[in-house]
Amino acid sequence: KLSMRLQAVASYIGRDAVLADIGSDHAYLPAHLALDGRIRKGIAGEVARGPYESAMATIRDAGLDGKVEARLADGLAAIREEDGVDTVAIAGMGGPLIASILEDGKDRLKNVSRLVLQPNIHALAIRSWAAKNGWHIVEEEILEEDRKIYEILVLERGSASYDDLELRFGPILSERKPETFRKKWEHEAASLQKILDRIKEASPSSERDAKEEELRRSLGQILEV
Ligand code: SAM
Repeated sequence: KLSMRLQAVASYIGRDAVLADIGSDHAYLPAHLALDGRIRKGIAGEVARGPYESAMATIRDAGLDGKVEARLADGLAAIREEDGVDTVAIAGMGGPLIASILEDGKDRLKNVSRLVLQPNIHALAIRSWAAKNGWHIVEEEILEEDRKIYEILVLERGSASYDDLELRFGPILSERKPETFRKKWEHEAASLQKILDRIKEASPSSERDAKEEELRRSLGQILEV
């Protein structure tokens, strides 16, 4: 059974999609979707040999040969033109790594109309990439599982611009402010406050002052939202 996190990611993959799941590890996401008859074809991309072998084992054991294919490749290099991939999922990594995979493989996204991205941290890197590259955010979700908080961003083609607060907190999440969103940022605000309290005890210096100023700005943004 898929984790709640991957179930949430799966819920944004359109019916009959041709899906490339990049950094697929065990290929659980494409394998489940294929077993449920929800995708036409799945590609499980992995850069590391161990996870690639796990992906092959999952596919074989589930009898999905021909329906889901594991490929050993760096990022979007797993996608070939003839695949007709229309949806890319990248889950379980940091936002900056996801953004750099998208940036490095831009030319492989020609036929792709939807990106389903699940950063563990720093979703801001993905929102900035989207705004710079002609994608916009059509859905955002935040969820907690095993005491960790995850965000899911769904991108489609179309330009948009986001201000600083939208980039950091998410244009949709900051509008809806679900319970888990409040929890995440209250937690973040509390740890910033703790650091600020500790900084106060350090002897003054221009470096300290600059850091304090930056942290105050950051905390101020959270309190504003
Ligand atoms: N996507 C799965 C999930 O959400 O449960 C697995 C996440 S796992 C923490 C991250 C995986 O991404 C690892 O198996 C790692 O080898 C793979 N990975 C990291 N960088 C990659 C890249 N540039 N191209 C393909 N896979 C990558």
